[in-house]
Amino acid sequence: MITIEKAYQIVIGKSYILETEKVDFISSVGRILAEDVTSDIEMPPFDKSAMDGYACRRSDVDNTLEIIEIIPAGKTPTKEIGKNQCAKIMTGAPVPKGADFIAMVEYSEETDSKFVKINKITQRNNISYKGEDVKIGQVVLRKGIKIEPQHIAVFASVGYTSVLVTKQPRVAIISTGDELVEPQMKPGISQIRNSNGYQLITQVKSCGAIANYIGIADDTPEDTFDKVSKALSENDMVLLTGGVSMGSFDFVPEVLKKAGVEILFDSIAVTPGKPTTFGVAGKKICFGLPGNPVSSFIQFELLVKPLIYKLMSFDYIPLDIQMPMGIEFKRKKSDRKAFIPVFIKEGEVFPVEYHGSAHIHALTFAHGIISFPIGVDTLVKGETVHVRQI
Ligand code: AMP
Ligand code: MG
Repeated sequence: MITIEKAYQIVIGKSYILETEKVDFISSVGRILAEDVTSDIEMPPFDKSAMDGYACRRSDVDNTLEIIEIIPAGKTPTKEIGKNQCAKIMTGAPVPKGADFIAMVEYSEETDSKFVKINKITQRNNISYKGEDVKIGQVVLRKGIKIEPQHIAVFASVGYTSVLVTKQPRVAIISTGDELVEPQMKPGISQIRNSNGYQLITQVKSCGAIANYIGIADDTPEDTFDKVSKALSENDMVLLTGGVSMGSFDFVPEVLKKAGVEILFDSIAVTPGKPTTFGVAGKKICFGLPGNPVSSFIQFELLVKPLIYKLMSFDYIPLDIQMPMGIEFKRKKSDRKAFIPVFIKEGEVFPVEYHGSAHIHALTFAHGIISFPIGVDTLVKGETVHVRQI
């Protein structure tokens, strides 16, 4: 048995970087950027009013000002502001020549449609100056980021309508087990619904990869082999769940070997997820995840997700928040590193009610997971723990 830290090193050690491709910027969300993005314009592109108000000279603000023009956003001013003059200006409109200050409409009073008196002078000039946010040629986004909606806004603002991203790993998903039926079926006696398959499809998709669901393999070496062979030939990675423990019908490791997969580990000193199996066939990557849904979920988080991201040239660093335990929490054995689903309430950490690795419903109440290192059996109230976001 190896530690989870060692398992992580072995997994990441098998990564390589996929090729790149150009995609339309809107569909790049969730993908990993493969080029630095520079700006072709200054932002703002001109001195811009940051407020609705009156553009004037700061030195004139105590005087009644004559309104010589109205400047809506999108219009170019036609007049220069002279002494005791102003232009009524809207947010986003170019500041006219001669003005160095925007008096806010809230602090001004028009005496009639031609004149205005300013009641309060703000410290700020209320002007966003040309180029103060971004200069021409400046790198606005660095290669290697995961593209989110706020990045799409930056692409739009610098005119990047076609974006270079890394290709998506194709990830096959196979559930194993004679007891499984698909979610639309009502399980018969001794049957359960296949929850792992769908959990994995969506875990894979939320990493920005392509999920190819193969189906449920019977607990026979033949059917498992057929599905694994098909999955390996058409994908970069294969995820199986179930069939990796000690039961008489747990054929996954044997089938993987028969399919040409070199097994690099088949047991980790971790809970949940001890029988997690990992191997490679050339560049093809295989995980045999445990059958219990919480184990499958957590091992995906710990091992599969960082590797999927790494294939796309993204270093996944989960959000890690340090907080005190809200109660004491004990465990019976301490020979494996344990991951516990927790929720956060008023700045303290509490374990969710959790009956074990089959209790997938418990995860829906969890904000994250904490860990007990090997050899530690008690977390005392008030002790700082690392909550890893899930
Ligand atoms: P196994 O490793 O195949 O012995 O499975 C361990 C436990 O996980 C058993 O109780 C299985 O019924 C359950 N299990 C296996 N696969 C799934 C699945 N796809 N969805 C939900 N539970 C599963
Ligand atoms: Mg099984």
